[in-house]
Amino acid sequence: MSYVFADQSYMSQVLQNHILKVHSIAINAITKGKYLVFGGGSTQLLSAAVFALSLNSSSLARVVAASPYYPVYKTQTDFFETAHFEFQGDALLMKRTSNSTGNAIEFVTSPNNPDGLLRKAVLQGSPVNAIYDHAYYWPHFTAIPAPADEDVMIFTISKLTGHAGSLMGFSEDKDVYLNMLKYMQLAELGVSRNTQLRALQLLKAVLEGDGREIFHFACEKMRDRWEKISQIVSLSKRFTIQDIPPQYCNFFEKVRGPSPAYVWLKCEREEDTNCNAVLRGANIIGRLGSLFNASDRYVRLSLLKRDDDFNLLLYRLKELVSKEGGAE
Ligand code: PMP
Repeated sequence: MSYVFADQSYMSQVLQNHILKVHSIAINAITKGKYLVFGGGSTQLLSAAVFALSLNSSSLARVVAASPYYPVYKTQTDFFETAHFEFQGDALLMKRTSNSTGNAIEFVTSPNNPDGLLRKAVLQGSPVNAIYDHAYYWPHFTAIPAPADEDVMIFTISKLTGHAGSLMGFSEDKDVYLNMLKYMQLAELGVSRNTQLRALQLLKAVLEGDGREIFHFACEKMRDRWEKISQIVSLSKRFTIQDIPPQYCNFFEKVRGPSPAYVWLKCEREEDTNCNAVLRGANIIGRLGSLFNASDRYVRLSLLKRDDDFNLLLYRLKELVSKEGGAE
Protein backbone atom coordinates (compact mmCIF):
# COMPACT_ATOMS: atom_id res chain seq x y z
CA MET A 1 0.00 0.00 0.00
CA SER A 2 1.92 3.05 -1.18
CA TYR A 3 0.93 6.56 -2.26
CA VAL A 4 0.29 5.85 -5.92
CA PHE A 5 -2.83 4.25 -7.39
CA ALA A 6 -2.84 1.70 -10.21
CA ASP A 7 -3.51 4.48 -12.75
CA GLN A 8 -0.39 6.29 -11.40
CA SER A 9 -2.50 9.08 -9.86
CA TYR A 10 -2.13 10.21 -6.26
CA MET A 11 -5.83 10.76 -5.68
CA SER A 12 -8.54 8.15 -5.73
CA GLN A 13 -11.19 9.02 -8.30
CA VAL A 14 -13.80 7.02 -6.38
CA LEU A 15 -13.03 9.04 -3.25
CA GLN A 16 -13.28 12.31 -5.20
CA ASN A 17 -16.73 11.26 -6.47
CA HIS A 18 -17.86 10.48 -2.94
CA ILE A 19 -16.60 13.83 -1.65
CA LEU A 20 -18.49 15.69 -4.37
CA LYS A 21 -21.63 13.70 -3.60
CA VAL A 22 -21.52 14.48 0.13
CA HIS A 23 -21.20 18.20 -0.68
CA SER A 24 -24.09 18.07 -3.12
CA ILE A 25 -26.30 16.45 -0.46
CA ALA A 26 -25.24 18.87 2.28
CA ILE A 27 -25.63 21.78 -0.23
CA ASN A 28 -22.65 23.39 1.50
CA ALA A 29 -20.20 23.97 -1.38
CA ILE A 30 -20.10 24.80 -5.06
CA THR A 31 -17.59 22.27 -6.33
CA LYS A 32 -18.03 22.73 -10.08
CA GLY A 33 -15.02 24.38 -11.71
CA LYS A 34 -12.86 23.85 -8.62
CA TYR A 35 -9.73 21.77 -8.14
CA LEU A 36 -9.74 19.30 -5.27
CA VAL A 37 -6.69 18.70 -3.05
CA PHE A 38 -6.53 15.97 -0.40
CA GLY A 39 -4.72 16.31 2.89
CA GLY A 40 -4.37 14.02 5.89
CA GLY A 41 -6.63 16.39 7.84
CA SER A 42 -7.49 19.99 7.13
CA THR A 43 -4.60 21.15 9.32
CA GLN A 44 -2.13 20.09 6.63
CA LEU A 45 -4.22 21.80 3.98
CA LEU A 46 -4.36 25.06 5.92
CA SER A 47 -0.59 25.12 5.87
CA ALA A 48 -0.51 24.09 2.19
CA ALA A 49 -2.88 26.97 1.37
CA VAL A 50 -0.70 29.56 3.15
CA PHE A 51 2.32 28.21 1.31
CA ALA A 52 0.54 28.28 -2.07
CA LEU A 53 -0.97 31.76 -1.66
CA SER A 54 2.28 33.25 -0.39
CA LEU A 55 4.00 32.17 -3.61
CA ASN A 56 1.45 34.27 -5.52
CA SER A 57 3.34 37.46 -4.76
CA SER A 58 6.95 38.58 -4.48
CA SER A 59 6.41 40.55 -1.24
CA LEU A 60 6.02 39.10 2.26
CA ALA A 61 2.46 37.86 2.94
CA ARG A 62 1.09 38.86 6.33
CA VAL A 63 -1.17 36.11 7.66
CA VAL A 64 -4.08 37.24 9.85
CA ALA A 65 -7.42 36.08 11.31
CA ALA A 66 -10.16 38.05 13.05
CA SER A 67 -10.28 37.44 16.81
CA PRO A 68 -11.42 35.26 18.40
CA TYR A 69 -9.66 32.77 16.14
CA TYR A 70 -8.65 29.12 16.10
CA PRO A 71 -5.15 29.06 17.73
CA VAL A 72 -3.59 26.69 15.19
CA TYR A 73 -3.52 29.47 12.56
CA LYS A 74 -0.91 31.27 14.62
CA THR A 75 1.05 28.32 16.00
CA GLN A 76 1.28 26.60 12.65
CA THR A 77 2.12 29.73 10.64
CA ASP A 78 4.78 30.72 13.19
CA PHE A 79 6.27 27.24 13.08
CA PHE A 80 6.45 27.05 9.28
CA GLU A 81 7.33 30.72 8.73
CA THR A 82 9.37 31.27 5.58
CA ALA A 83 10.72 34.31 3.75
CA HIS A 84 7.33 34.39 1.98
CA PHE A 85 4.93 34.69 4.94
CA GLU A 86 4.61 35.47 8.66
CA PHE A 87 1.74 35.58 11.16
CA GLN A 88 0.61 39.11 12.02
CA GLY A 89 -2.31 38.54 14.41
CA ASP A 90 -5.74 40.10 14.36
CA ALA A 91 -7.29 40.95 10.98
CA LEU A 92 -9.59 43.50 12.66
CA LEU A 93 -6.58 45.31 14.10
CA MET A 94 -4.87 45.32 10.73
CA LYS A 95 -8.01 46.76 9.16
CA ARG A 96 -8.27 49.50 11.80
CA THR A 97 -4.63 50.50 11.92
CA SER A 98 -3.25 50.23 8.36
CA ASN A 99 -4.17 52.33 5.37
CA SER A 100 -3.10 49.49 3.16
CA THR A 101 -3.15 45.83 4.15
CA GLY A 102 -0.34 45.09 1.68
CA ASN A 103 -0.05 41.48 0.71
CA ALA A 104 -2.25 39.65 3.24
CA ILE A 105 -3.66 36.17 3.72
CA GLU A 106 -6.73 36.03 5.94
CA PHE A 107 -8.01 32.87 7.59
CA VAL A 108 -11.80 33.05 7.71
CA THR A 109 -13.42 30.37 9.85
CA SER A 110 -17.09 30.00 9.06
CA PRO A 111 -18.78 29.01 11.26
CA ASN A 112 -16.15 30.26 13.63
CA ASN A 113 -14.30 28.22 16.22
CA PRO A 114 -14.87 29.24 19.11
CA ASP A 115 -18.18 31.15 18.75
CA GLY A 116 -20.04 29.31 15.97
CA LEU A 117 -20.88 32.48 13.98
CA LEU A 118 -20.89 32.55 10.20
CA ARG A 119 -18.18 34.90 8.96
CA LYS A 120 -16.96 36.74 5.88
CA ALA A 121 -13.46 38.08 5.27
CA VAL A 122 -12.72 41.28 7.16
CA LEU A 123 -10.03 42.46 4.74
CA GLN A 124 -10.82 43.22 1.15
CA GLY A 125 -8.87 44.24 -1.93
CA SER A 126 -6.66 42.62 -4.52
CA PRO A 127 -3.50 41.72 -2.57
CA VAL A 128 -5.69 40.00 0.04
CA ASN A 129 -6.30 36.28 -0.26
CA ALA A 130 -8.73 34.48 2.01
CA ILE A 131 -8.55 30.88 3.14
CA TYR A 132 -12.05 29.83 4.13
CA ASP A 133 -11.88 27.18 6.82
CA HIS A 134 -15.27 25.46 6.60
CA ALA A 135 -14.50 22.67 9.06
CA TYR A 136 -17.91 23.28 10.70
CA TYR A 137 -19.92 24.26 7.61
CA TRP A 138 -22.13 21.18 7.78
CA PRO A 139 -25.89 21.19 8.41
CA HIS A 140 -25.50 19.72 11.90
CA PHE A 141 -23.48 22.70 13.17
CA THR A 142 -25.02 25.63 11.34
CA ALA A 143 -27.72 26.84 9.00
CA ILE A 144 -26.45 26.61 5.41
CA PRO A 145 -27.75 29.90 3.92
CA ALA A 146 -25.97 29.25 0.60
CA PRO A 147 -23.37 26.83 -0.73
CA ALA A 148 -19.85 28.15 -0.10
CA ASP A 149 -18.21 29.38 -3.27
CA GLU A 150 -14.87 30.89 -2.28
CA ASP A 151 -11.57 30.72 -4.14
CA VAL A 152 -9.86 28.63 -1.48
CA MET A 153 -12.00 26.59 0.90
CA ILE A 154 -11.08 23.81 3.27
CA PHE A 155 -13.45 21.14 4.56
CA THR A 156 -12.72 18.15 6.73
CA ILE A 157 -14.25 14.77 7.48
CA SER A 158 -13.02 15.40 11.00
CA LYS A 159 -16.12 17.43 11.87
CA LEU A 160 -18.44 15.56 9.52
CA THR A 161 -18.18 12.11 11.08
CA GLY A 162 -15.99 12.89 14.09
CA HIS A 163 -12.90 11.08 12.72
CA ALA A 164 -10.03 13.51 13.16
CA GLY A 165 -7.42 14.02 10.51
CA SER A 166 -9.25 13.22 7.30
CA LEU A 167 -9.05 15.20 4.08
CA MET A 168 -10.25 17.70 1.74
CA GLY A 169 -9.86 21.19 0.24
CA PHE A 170 -10.95 23.06 -2.87
CA SER A 171 -9.28 25.75 -4.90
CA GLU A 172 -10.60 27.73 -7.81
CA ASP A 173 -7.24 29.02 -9.08
CA LYS A 174 -5.14 26.45 -10.94
CA ASP A 175 -1.78 27.91 -9.79
CA VAL A 176 -2.87 27.90 -6.16
CA TYR A 177 -4.08 24.33 -6.63
CA LEU A 178 -0.77 23.25 -8.16
CA ASN A 179 1.20 24.89 -5.37
CA MET A 180 -0.98 23.21 -2.75
CA LEU A 181 -0.36 19.90 -4.49
CA LYS A 182 3.36 20.66 -4.55
CA TYR A 183 3.31 21.32 -0.81
CA MET A 184 1.41 18.10 -0.13
CA GLN A 185 3.77 16.11 -2.30
CA LEU A 186 6.99 17.60 -0.95
CA ALA A 187 6.01 17.77 2.70
CA GLU A 188 3.92 14.60 2.96
CA LEU A 189 4.48 12.57 -0.24
CA GLY A 190 0.74 13.08 -0.72
CA VAL A 191 -1.93 11.18 1.19
CA SER A 192 -1.34 7.45 1.41
CA ARG A 193 -3.75 5.04 -0.26
CA ASN A 194 -4.41 3.61 3.15
CA THR A 195 -5.68 6.97 4.44
CA GLN A 196 -7.73 7.52 1.30
CA LEU A 197 -9.37 4.11 1.69
CA ARG A 198 -10.25 4.89 5.26
CA ALA A 199 -11.80 8.20 4.22
CA LEU A 200 -13.73 6.42 1.46
CA GLN A 201 -15.07 3.94 3.97
CA LEU A 202 -16.29 6.79 6.18
CA LEU A 203 -17.97 8.58 3.28
CA LYS A 204 -19.64 5.36 2.15
CA ALA A 205 -21.18 5.09 5.61
CA VAL A 206 -22.25 8.76 5.46
CA LEU A 207 -23.90 8.17 2.08
CA GLU A 208 -25.90 5.12 3.15
CA GLY A 209 -29.60 5.50 2.36
CA ASP A 210 -30.27 8.95 0.96
CA GLY A 211 -27.14 10.37 2.66
CA ARG A 212 -29.16 12.86 4.71
CA GLU A 213 -29.70 10.80 7.83
CA ILE A 214 -26.38 11.67 9.50
CA PHE A 215 -27.17 15.39 9.27
CA HIS A 216 -30.64 14.96 10.75
CA PHE A 217 -29.30 12.82 13.58
CA ALA A 218 -26.30 15.03 14.38
CA CYS A 219 -28.23 18.29 14.10
CA GLU A 220 -30.85 17.04 16.54
CA LYS A 221 -28.10 15.97 18.96
CA MET A 222 -26.22 19.29 18.78
CA ARG A 223 -29.41 21.37 18.98
CA ASP A 224 -30.54 19.47 22.06
CA ARG A 225 -27.17 20.04 23.76
CA TRP A 226 -27.17 23.74 22.89
CA GLU A 227 -30.70 24.17 24.25
CA LYS A 228 -29.89 22.40 27.50
CA ILE A 229 -26.81 24.56 28.08
CA SER A 230 -28.72 27.72 27.08
CA GLN A 231 -31.50 26.90 29.50
CA ILE A 232 -29.05 26.59 32.42
CA VAL A 233 -27.15 29.76 31.50
CA SER A 234 -30.43 31.68 31.16
CA LEU A 235 -30.90 31.19 34.93
CA SER A 236 -27.52 32.78 35.62
CA LYS A 237 -26.49 36.38 36.17
CA ARG A 238 -22.84 35.40 36.34
CA PHE A 239 -22.46 33.77 32.90
CA THR A 240 -23.63 34.50 29.38
CA ILE A 241 -23.15 32.63 26.12
CA GLN A 242 -22.95 33.76 22.51
CA ASP A 243 -26.06 34.73 20.60
CA ILE A 244 -26.40 32.91 17.28
CA PRO A 245 -29.31 34.30 15.24
CA PRO A 246 -31.72 31.89 13.51
CA GLN A 247 -31.19 31.70 9.75
CA TYR A 248 -32.69 30.10 6.69
CA CYS A 249 -31.04 26.76 5.95
CA ASN A 250 -31.02 25.34 2.43
CA PHE A 251 -30.50 21.83 3.74
CA PHE A 252 -33.48 21.79 6.11
CA GLU A 253 -35.45 24.22 3.91
CA LYS A 254 -36.55 26.33 6.85
CA VAL A 255 -35.36 28.97 9.30
CA ARG A 256 -33.54 27.12 12.03
CA GLY A 257 -31.90 27.89 15.36
CA PRO A 258 -28.33 27.22 16.52
CA SER A 259 -26.60 23.85 17.01
CA PRO A 260 -22.92 24.85 17.35
CA ALA A 261 -19.94 22.70 18.26
CA TYR A 262 -18.80 25.02 21.07
CA VAL A 263 -20.15 27.30 23.75
CA TRP A 264 -18.31 30.63 24.05
CA LEU A 265 -19.04 31.36 27.67
CA LYS A 266 -18.41 34.72 29.29
CA CYS A 267 -17.97 35.53 32.97
CA GLU A 268 -19.83 38.79 33.57
CA ARG A 269 -18.77 39.59 37.14
CA GLU A 270 -16.04 42.20 37.33
CA GLU A 271 -13.93 40.11 39.71
CA ASP A 272 -14.04 37.01 37.43
CA THR A 273 -11.12 38.07 35.25
CA ASN A 274 -10.07 34.46 34.69
CA CYS A 275 -13.23 32.64 33.70
CA ASN A 276 -11.38 29.37 33.22
CA ALA A 277 -10.32 29.41 36.87
CA VAL A 278 -13.95 29.95 37.93
CA LEU A 279 -15.02 26.92 35.92
CA ARG A 280 -12.07 24.81 37.04
CA GLY A 281 -13.25 25.45 40.58
CA ALA A 282 -16.43 23.61 39.61
CA ASN A 283 -14.48 20.82 37.86
CA ILE A 284 -15.36 22.04 34.39
CA ILE A 285 -12.56 22.00 31.84
CA GLY A 286 -12.67 24.55 29.05
CA ARG A 287 -10.22 26.50 26.92
CA LEU A 288 -9.09 29.90 28.01
CA GLY A 289 -10.19 32.90 25.92
CA SER A 290 -6.63 34.18 25.45
CA LEU A 291 -5.80 31.03 23.45
CA PHE A 292 -8.18 32.45 20.83
CA ASN A 293 -6.65 35.93 21.09
CA ALA A 294 -9.64 37.06 23.17
CA SER A 295 -10.12 38.11 26.80
CA ASP A 296 -9.76 35.56 29.62
CA ARG A 297 -13.30 36.49 30.62
CA TYR A 298 -14.21 33.97 27.93
CA VAL A 299 -13.92 30.21 27.95
CA ARG A 300 -14.68 27.77 25.15
CA LEU A 301 -16.61 24.68 26.21
CA SER A 302 -16.80 21.81 23.76
CA LEU A 303 -20.14 20.17 22.99
CA LEU A 304 -18.41 17.50 20.91
CA LYS A 305 -18.30 14.72 23.45
CA ARG A 306 -19.95 11.52 24.50
CA ASP A 307 -23.36 11.71 26.19
CA ASP A 308 -21.90 10.75 29.58
CA ASP A 309 -19.35 13.56 29.51
CA PHE A 310 -21.89 16.05 28.24
CA ASN A 311 -24.33 15.12 31.01
CA LEU A 312 -21.57 15.60 33.57
CA LEU A 313 -20.85 19.04 32.12
CA LEU A 314 -24.55 19.93 32.38
CA TYR A 315 -24.73 18.69 35.93
CA ARG A 316 -21.67 20.66 37.06
CA LEU A 317 -22.72 23.82 35.29
CA LYS A 318 -26.16 23.59 36.86
CA GLU A 319 -24.60 23.20 40.30
CA LEU A 320 -22.37 26.22 39.71
CA VAL A 321 -25.30 28.36 38.60
CA SER A 322 -27.49 27.20 41.46
CA LYS A 323 -24.86 28.45 43.95
CA GLU A 324 -24.98 32.00 42.59
CA GLY A 325 -25.86 34.53 45.20
CA GLY A 326 -25.43 31.87 47.90
CA ALA A 327 -22.47 31.49 50.24
CA GLU A 328 -19.58 30.32 48.03
N1 PMP B 1 -10.13 24.04 11.46
C1 PMP B 1 -10.82 24.30 12.57
C2 PMP B 1 -11.49 25.63 12.71
C3 PMP B 1 -10.91 23.35 13.60
O1 PMP B 1 -11.59 23.63 14.72
C4 PMP B 1 -10.26 22.10 13.45
C5 PMP B 1 -10.32 21.02 14.51
N2 PMP B 1 -10.25 21.45 15.80
C6 PMP B 1 -9.53 21.88 12.28
C7 PMP B 1 -9.49 22.85 11.30
C8 PMP B 1 -8.70 20.62 12.12
O2 PMP B 1 -9.33 19.58 11.52
P1 PMP B 1 -8.54 18.28 11.01
O3 PMP B 1 -8.84 17.19 11.99
O4 PMP B 1 -9.15 18.01 9.67
O5 PMP B 1 -7.07 18.57 10.88
